[in-house]
Amino acid sequence: MIPVTKTFLPPQSEYQAILNRAWEKGWITNRGELVIELEQKLKSRLSVSNIVAMTNGTLPLQIAIKALNIIGDVITTPFSYVATTSSIVWEGCNPIFVDINPDFLTIDETKIEAAITENTSAILATHVFGNPCNIEAISAIATKYNLKVIYDAAHCFDVEYKNNSIFNFGDISTCSFHATKLFHTGEGGAIFTNDKILLDKLFYHHNFGHKGHEEFYGLGINAKMSELQAAMGLAVLPYIDRIKAEREIVVLKYTKAFQTTPSIQLPRWRSHTSKNFSYFPVIFENEEILIKVNSSLENHNIFARRYFYPSLNKVPYVHSVNTPVAESVSQRILCLPLYYGMSETTVKEIIDIILEAL
Ligand SMILES: *Cc1c(COP(=O)(O)O)cnc(C)c1O
Repeated sequence: MIPVTKTFLPPQSEYQAILNRAWEKGWITNRGELVIELEQKLKSRLSVSNIVAMTNGTLPLQIAIKALNIIGDVITTPFSYVATTSSIVWEGCNPIFVDINPDFLTIDETKIEAAITENTSAILATHVFGNPCNIEAISAIATKYNLKVIYDAAHCFDVEYKNNSIFNFGDISTCSFHATKLFHTGEGGAIFTNDKILLDKLFYHHNFGHKGHEEFYGLGINAKMSELQAAMGLAVLPYIDRIKAEREIVVLKYTKAFQTTPSIQLPRWRSHTSKNFSYFPVIFENEEILIKVNSSLENHNIFARRYFYPSLNKVPYVHSVNTPVAESVSQRILCLPLYYGMSETTVKEIIDIILEAL
């Protein structure tokens, strides 16, 4: 069976050696030395000035909305994982969907201004598959209308835009370290901001609002990363360059095979952006072709995934609006298997099956 992705598992002895440190201390959560060490290592790896490690990549979105005092309408993308939308609704805000750019698949910045009303307080956009939004345009709009900007950068581990970590943009950026993501801690995630005051707020929010044992800064929730999660991260991190290098080889093979196939569209990548090879999406001419290709793959026990389907303006708990580009792309896009340890023969087999099915 060939899945869309396989979690990179470090040698068990290496994970165990790191876990031993938690055992020796008898300390498995509440920001022990492993979480602190992981944060330090990620700060230097990613060149960010601040990070708070968290227990997944969804709570950082919710905490970001809370910490920025966002209420009312939040302009967002319909083309993302459901957590982007659900976090807005969970925090009692209304997602206002703005359609996406058909080439980059990120929110269409030229359509944002038309969606702004006096109820709008923020923009929450996703750097889709590690491909940045039009950061400059969004920042200019946010300044003009006094809006906060949160980037769901769940796919963006190690991505640099203009030689700067992508996590350095927006008021707050978030990342996911879920087992299906490029860098992982099993479940996990992180939040990033360059604003020291905001950082304090995020930090208190993620630990019940505790300020010491007996005092409270304010409202909080529990989003702490455990030592067990951090140990996994510390064991995976030394392999990240190798993981990326192997995935790059697969991506280059897919790209070579499909970039000249007339019935397949590959997303266009924003310039000045480093790729992290986290996904390989292909867009077909219509949904029938996608279904045909996907069933051919399934007949060979190969399981691609329809990221992202359905378009998020169609989930049952939001006010449905038309976003024709996102709806059309959602129906036609398929992410191909891509993981560390994928054999050359498997890549070739997948390419051949797809070209054959078209
Ligand atoms: C994975 C993902 C999330 C959620 O992250 P978890 O760690 O699974 O909670 C949020 N947004 C996007 C775009 C994602 O792909």
